Amino acid sequence: MHLSERKKRENIGLSVLLIASIFAIFLLFIWKLKDSSPNVFYILVAIGLLSCFSIYGIFTKKIREREAMKKKPFPEEWRKILERYVAFYRALSAEEKDRFETEIQVFLHETRITGIKTEVDDVTMVLAAASAEIPVFSFPDWEYENLGEILIYPGPFSKDFRMEGPDRTVTGMVGTGIMQGIMILSKPALIGGFENTNDKGNVGIHEFVHLLDSADGSYDGIPNMFLDKAYLAPWLEVMHKETERIKDGDSKMNPYGATNKIEFFAVASEYFFEHPDALKKEKPELYELLTKIFKQDTKHRLGSAVKNLINYTGNKVSRNAACPCGSGKKYKNCCLKNSRSY
Ligand SMILES: [Zn+2]
Ligand SMILES: [Zn+2]
Repeated sequence: MHLSERKKRENIGLSVLLIASIFAIFLLFIWKLKDSSPNVFYILVAIGLLSCFSIYGIFTKKIREREAMKKKPFPEEWRKILERYVAFYRALSAEEKDRFETEIQVFLHETRITGIKTEVDDVTMVLAAASAEIPVFSFPDWEYENLGEILIYPGPFSKDFRMEGPDRTVTGMVGTGIMQGIMILSKPALIGGFENTNDKGNVGIHEFVHLLDSADGSYDGIPNMFLDKAYLAPWLEVMHKETERIKDGDSKMNPYGATNKIEFFAVASEYFFEHPDALKKEKPELYELLTKIFKQDTKHRLGSAVKNLINYTGNKVSRNAACPCGSGKKYKNCCLKNSRSY
């Protein structure tokens, strides 16, 4: 997901190009000093060159840190967690496992995981990262552009993020408004999704698939960034057909998938990643299309290259915002203290 040679080349190329242009403009400004006061001119050139080096360092920081993660050994404790909870990981080859682990290190290095009135333990951290990685494991270039923080709640919550009182039925969601791009996951649901492999459900994967769906700018159950145009009509058709089957009680899919197209895509994807063989047998057409979706490489985007230059790692709850736990305190003085990253 995070590591690709292309990204590295793009980052270096763009950095050099920008810095060279800035330096050229700087030279143009000080050029007249060359004859009148050559000492000052050469000092300024030296200062300019030094600044270029440090700007280059800043521009390439994010990608360099990712490279460093490749060399950093994966924590043995975390490997045990993956072996125990993540069927997807167990099925990978040794080489793929290696890449999966590095991706998790990068993800947790750039994403803040914050416990809201609950502790973020290693299991929570690793499973949150695994949920992010699984749907996009085949896309070396993919980035969850805006996501920079995951809030971990102690249990289910209400649609307005309450942790107490009635209507607490939500176990995961992606925020909008000031919570734009910030994901909330209930800790027991996240862990349960991996622990219980017979229910075809996984809230972590479900929420990350919503992010893939909305990457093209609209939540509609149609992942345009991933789905070749030729498959659009078959995709709409299979969504319709399978939704009808759920409604008729003639489907092994979680009935929540019949809510609308958005939920259908997320629920079908959970099934796909948790029980590919069962899905293939029960719904070969749906399985085929999901294979196309999750193997399709994403389109190249300049935006991501520029975000790398400024070391942007996604939206996070602002330090001075009111804490999501409802304490009335500023986030930095409250639950932000429970944040972890790698
Ligand atoms: Zn959903
Ligand atoms: Zn708080």
